Amino acid sequence: MTKRAPQPCCLGHTPSPSPAPRPPAAATASPSRRARPGRPRLTPEELRDRLADYCTRYSLALNDDGLPPFPAGQRETVQHREWMSLYKAHRRLSTRGPDAADLERRQELLSAQHARCVVCRKPLDLEDARADGQAADAAVLHARCLELVALARALGPEALERARSRI
Ligand SMILES: [Zn+2]
Repeated sequence: MTKRAPQPCCLGHTPSPSPAPRPPAAATASPSRRARPGRPRLTPEELRDRLADYCTRYSLALNDDGLPPFPAGQRETVQHREWMSLYKAHRRLSTRGPDAADLERRQELLSAQHARCVVCRKPLDLEDARADGQAADAAVLHARCLELVALARALGPEALERARSRI
């Protein structure tokens, strides 16, 4: 046995532990349509139940943002952790956009209208389609067209006639 092999000295030869290149979980998580295994998709109902449970246990009410008040001065407590978890869930849901049921409904209406706005008759895509549920027959419209309808409703038919005479 020779002792030719250089002894690893404690500084020079130890490979510096390089962090494995892993994408940061929360920062880059985009609201993708693909369901991620292991993490059931959060539904608005689940969040509502969790919020209600939290509020009951801590005797709190939701604020205008739909969240319980931040537990000031409670850092490192269970309550603080729970609040952070609710806050993240709330943010995740609110960045997900319109919920799936609404999207589906608008898609149905849009298909029935042959992808055209019921007011201007111009092409309309799902992203621009705004649902008008006020009339007896629900429909999707451009945002501007829906504004026109809403204004006409607010002002009444006579005003609409007078406006017509000015076109
Ligand atoms: Zn339109």
